[in-house]
Amino acid sequence: MRSRYSAFVLRLWDYLIATHHPDYLNGLTTELLQQGPHPAWLTLEVHESSMQGDRGEVFFSAWYKDSGKLDAICERSAFLRENGAWFYTEGRHSKPKLPGRNDSCICGSGKKFKQCCQRG
Ligand SMILES: [Zn+2]
Repeated sequence: MRSRYSAFVLRLWDYLIATHHPDYLNGLTTELLQQGPHPAWLTLEVHESSMQGDRGEVFFSAWYKDSGKLDAICERSAFLRENGAWFYTEGRHSKPKLPGRNDSCICGSGKKFKQCCQRG
């Protein structure tokens, strides 16, 4: 999961396709990934992860800035293990939860959220 986030940041589209279960691609291709959108990724926050046999689930928020505005992809991703390798299958999106104004910023600056990324 972290390696897939890194692959998004580094734009390793072939890796993302290779770790996406073929039965769940729904026509997704390297070319489509290349087309974007390509937000400026800030950080990955993993809220929860669990594994049961060959099934895994990760609940995360991947924070990014788009036109100076902070937002996140908040998703519960499902993974399936086949022949020892994990594949992404599908994800359920939910509304990202922004930090409180006085919480430390998600970008890791050490500043308060209101004094950092919240200001756009
Ligand atoms: Zn920040």
